Amino acid sequence: MSYTIALTPGDGIGQEVVSATVPILETAADIGGFDLEMNTYEMGAAHYIETGTVMEDETLEAIRDHDAILLGGVGLPEVDNAFVAAEGHHRIRRELDLWNNLRPAYLFDESVCPLKGYGHGDIDILWFRENSEGEYIDAGGRLDRGGRTDTAIQCSVYTREGIERIARAAFDAATDRDGIVHNITKSNVLSYGAAFWDEVVEEVATEYPDVTLEKLYVDAANLSIVVQPERYDVVVGPNLFSDILTDATAGVVGGLGLAPSANLNPNEDVPGMFEPVHGTAPDIAGEGIANPLATVLSGALLFDDLGEDGAADAIRAAVEAQLQDESAPRTPDLGGDAMTDDVATDLNERLRNLN
Ligand code: NAD
Repeated sequence: MSYTIALTPGDGIGQEVVSATVPILETAADIGGFDLEMNTYEMGAAHYIETGTVMEDETLEAIRDHDAILLGGVGLPEVDNAFVAAEGHHRIRRELDLWNNLRPAYLFDESVCPLKGYGHGDIDILWFRENSEGEYIDAGGRLDRGGRTDTAIQCSVYTREGIERIARAAFDAATDRDGIVHNITKSNVLSYGAAFWDEVVEEVATEYPDVTLEKLYVDAANLSIVVQPERYDVVVGPNLFSDILTDATAGVVGGLGLAPSANLNPNEDVPGMFEPVHGTAPDIAGEGIANPLATVLSGALLFDDLGEDGAADAIRAAVEAQLQDESAPRTPDLGGDAMTDDVATDLNERLRNLN
């Protein structure tokens, strides 16, 4: 068996974490007994500065033909972030209709948890972020720019189809996990969009009599994720709230350096896109100290999606072993002084030794 992977490292630490992850994917493929053909495509803010285009149409067509996409991240301080996102990774999500953004947060070891009293496996959240609608549809306008009545309008869109499909994905997952879904919105204020969201999620819930649905408002959820993260198992939420709150779920399991994600469309024959939750970290880019583990764990999600459970589980086992070993190298975000490559090399060694 052989799979094609499109690598889009992007900007800043995206380049560093993707190149550190590639040998780990190769070792995991050896363990799983399959081959990988990896092709690299440049896109992002640096590519825009160089060529005037964030991502060529041909690049999108080429990556579409792969079995999976591994993205580093896009954005540089010298280029408008909203423009680069819209033309970069958001364009991939949009054109491939990758509506399901899976953002797991799993605590591998108490040493990386900022909260007292939480150990291995005590936090295990699977977040389903709606990835195609809400505030991210790029609709709105700016009137009288710079004038006396300078006004901005930002629209958000919710569709029945969009809500139903992400809700069903969450309820399906809950059926195989703890049988509970937390739905997080702000329907007490957003009385059209969020209220419709809740209505449709509650309708979908009736299809799953064995799953309990609990509703929370986003402000209360934000607090309880920090003080009571064990309360959550499967969570579903609209695009913007989920984007924000999954930085908090990342925080309670060790930070952005440990937070992977998958962008999926299980209904269509399109590749999934896998990426760390973090961005391009311009504050540390070029120093070689970015934590590669969020990207490595995104690689595990990529293998999950390809049905290569052995390779996916091996990566997670190696990450767990590394984080549970006090003498293992850690990057500064986890309190260590190791470089990206030290962590990746050590992890690769552990992976080989699992075999
Ligand atoms: P960021 O995630 O890049 O950084 C936030 C903080 O976390 C920084 O202090 C950074 O050093 C730290 N950090 C992030 N990843 C880390 C890692 N792997 N190891 C160690 N520390 C890490 O978010 P930001 O600063 O808001 O955004 C920076 C740029 O990234 C912007 O251009 C933004 O638009 C872009 N961005 C891109 C994506 C994407 O491509 N998917 C996502 C988020 C932000």
